[in-house]
Amino acid sequence: MIQKTEIRNLEVEYEVVNRKVKNARLEIKTDQIRIIMPLNHFNHEEIIRNHEKWIYNKISNIKALQLKAEKKELNSHVNEDIFRNMVRDWILEFSNDLGVDFNRVFFKKMRSRWGSCSSKKNLNINRYLMFLPNHLVEYVVFHEVAHLVEMSHNKKFWHIISMRFPNYKELENELLIYWLKVKKFIEKGYLKI
Ligand SMILES: [Zn+2]
Repeated sequence: MIQKTEIRNLEVEYEVVNRKVKNARLEIKTDQIRIIMPLNHFNHEEIIRNHEKWIYNKISNIKALQLKAEKKELNSHVNEDIFRNMVRDWILEFSNDLGVDFNRVFFKKMRSRWGSCSSKKNLNINRYLMFLPNHLVEYVVFHEVAHLVEMSHNKKFWHIISMRFPNYKELENELLIYWLKVKKFIEKGYLKI
């Protein structure tokens, strides 16, 4: 059940879940706080009070991004075949540039990320990406192909990324803003694919 509270004039939605855990912990799920409590522990107000600053910072940050998301436009006249061909062309180009092989490319409807790369060298691309501007699609494709060189988000990985996209932090932030937009549109039933 979603409950509401206020921290320094900021409305915060949260959910309390009791689970078999040792200590209580907080998670943020897009724009909601989830409080995970050990079984038979019910003093969640105390957890909130002890983490007010953390909660306030997280929620106010996401609310600011949501305002930015409202101003973003989604690509509405997209043709999925054109999108897929564009992605495939970029995969060929980037894998050639980075000197890596890939196995297969899958286009999937994903609810938590824009793309992924498996240990079997398969690349998964989120179909919702087709509603985003091309420069972000290009970045996501490069990011996933770069995972064929380095699987984890370590120093080496970000170095490869920054060679082609020195502004990658900005692009990652833009992707998060677009994610909030796409999520809202999916919830409203505007994006049927
Ligand atoms: Zn990654």
